[in-house]
Amino acid sequence: MKFLADRTLGKLAKGLRMLGYDTLYYRGEDIHQLIHLARQEDRILLTRNTKLALRRPKDRIITITEDSPSRQLKEVVQKETLSLGEEKLYTRCLLCNDPIDAIPREEAEGKVPDFIFHQQKDFFRCPRCERIYWQGSHLTHMNEKVKELIENFKYLKSKI
Ligand SMILES: [Zn+2]
Repeated sequence: MKFLADRTLGKLAKGLRMLGYDTLYYRGEDIHQLIHLARQEDRILLTRNTKLALRRPKDRIITITEDSPSRQLKEVVQKETLSLGEEKLYTRCLLCNDPIDAIPREEAEGKVPDFIFHQQKDFFRCPRCERIYWQGSHLTHMNEKVKELIENFKYLKSKI
């Protein structure tokens, strides 16, 4: 399942990437181009434009009604009944959307703060922007919310 977020949903796009979902972020204002891109790449369109889904009943469009990015993320997870898994967390660059690769530990030396290098065992790198990631490098408010989502999801699953 792949997504395309419109220009109002940049933070939601990052949240979905954090969960491991392939999510493009379209910064432009051209709605025709937005729809075209979604069709061409078979992506579910995420928008806050409430008229779009009504005008385009044949396209897969999710209208986001929540304001805060973490609630928006929850909204997508619920509406699309996304499966969440810790194994998918931190597998994608938050900026480029590219899958990140594990790298030998030595290659991270000097490129991350020293204390991080000594603390962490595993490092990953984005092949496009070369940004280096490690467990916890995504530490943000959104990260906390993502963890909460996964915990709740596990709880729900254990109850079924
Ligand atoms: Zn990147």
